[in-house]
Amino acid sequence: MSRVVLITGGSRGIGLATAKRFAALGDKVAVTYNSTPPSGDFLAIKCDVTIESDVERTFAEVEAALGPVEVLVSNAGITKDGLLLRMKDDDFTSVIDTNLTGAFRVCKRATQSMLRARKGRIILVSSVVGLLGQAGQANYAASKAGLVGFARSLAREFGSRNITVNVVAPGPVDTDMTRTLGDDKLQAIADLVPLARIATADEIAGAIAFLASHDAAYITGAVLPVDGGLGMGH
Ligand code: NDP
Repeated sequence: MSRVVLITGGSRGIGLATAKRFAALGDKVAVTYNSTPPSGDFLAIKCDVTIESDVERTFAEVEAALGPVEVLVSNAGITKDGLLLRMKDDDFTSVIDTNLTGAFRVCKRATQSMLRARKGRIILVSSVVGLLGQAGQANYAASKAGLVGFARSLAREFGSRNITVNVVAPGPVDTDMTRTLGDDKLQAIADLVPLARIATADEIAGAIAFLASHDAAYITGAVLPVDGGLGMGH
């Protein structure tokens, strides 16, 4: 395979594991980073997904270096946790702006060339929290639930053009995002998971790669849980 793959938030965690996965498959991979560039066999571009001009420049750079994006993984995300009564306006809007509106910005730009090519794969990284809710994460859960309606709308808009749009909904994953919680809290979360452990980033990357593969050609508008059973039934 030698598709052009763009992964937002590819500097670490799930995004970096996904970049390595696609690079190993022989794809031409570009990743975006916000603060620290990753090292690896891919093109790294600085891009803040909350800034439209950054998104535009990123796609232009990828197109010039590798060609039009054929597989987009919208993965960049942040948390700003807090109970609702203490949550500041900016804690809410900045999380929505990065996690949901950021996905809107990159999907909108990616579909331009996918429509011309009459093919494309879009995978959005949501969370089990978007389906279950989580005390202290109303902003994050809203952004991740929003991705589901967003993806399914795009799946309907672009299905006839051979563009699939799917969501991966991970449970807890061993990355910087969860490490800040500390060992005791992470163990308490793992105890809630039927598979009794948190995931590796590579396990999420595998599901993302599957949704971009030939075997997933007839899957669109799906929400694929990769959560050890934590959210089953939702
Ligand atoms: P990390 O915190 O390890 O990495 C987050 C990535 O997003 C980094 O590459 C970071 O860039 C990038 N990023 C953050 N803000 C922006 C921005 N404004 N513009 C562009 N890039 C940005 O997170 P994970 O790997 O754990 O999470 C990846 C995705 O998976 C997120 O959407 C997250 O919500 C989701 N997820 C994670 C789970 C988990 O348990 N870890 C569970 C369920 C979903 P930089 O390094 O440059 O700051």
